[in-house]
Amino acid sequence: MDRRRITEYLDIDLDSEMWCCNRCGRDLIGAGENYKKGCLVAERDPSEVHRPLVEGEYTRSPDPAWCRIIEFYCPSCGIMIENEYLPPGHPITHDIELDIESLKAKHAAATAGGGDE
Ligand SMILES: [Zn+2]
Repeated sequence: MDRRRITEYLDIDLDSEMWCCNRCGRDLIGAGENYKKGCLVAERDPSEVHRPLVEGEYTRSPDPAWCRIIEFYCPSCGIMIENEYLPPGHPITHDIELDIESLKAKHAAATAGGGDE
């Protein structure tokens, strides 16, 4: 098992080439895919997430007409892996593209080093 942490709750498994939940270890989706496709997705109204801090016409809450909050959860343990703000109708962004071959090469170089001297 050779896992690399990519974000706080997201690992990549270099052996199986799968995105994994860092919390529970569940495989999410193949490393060549957008990891968000392997998550449970929840779309939230920003006004539910950011409670208005100020009474009246002006609030700090984002306007739901131009902003949605998309949350990505591990389907197994339910930890929120990522969230993003998108305009309505905007496709989910593909924010991390891994070069799995170079990751593997780096790992191989790092593990092959010991004991050569
Ligand atoms: Zn999990």
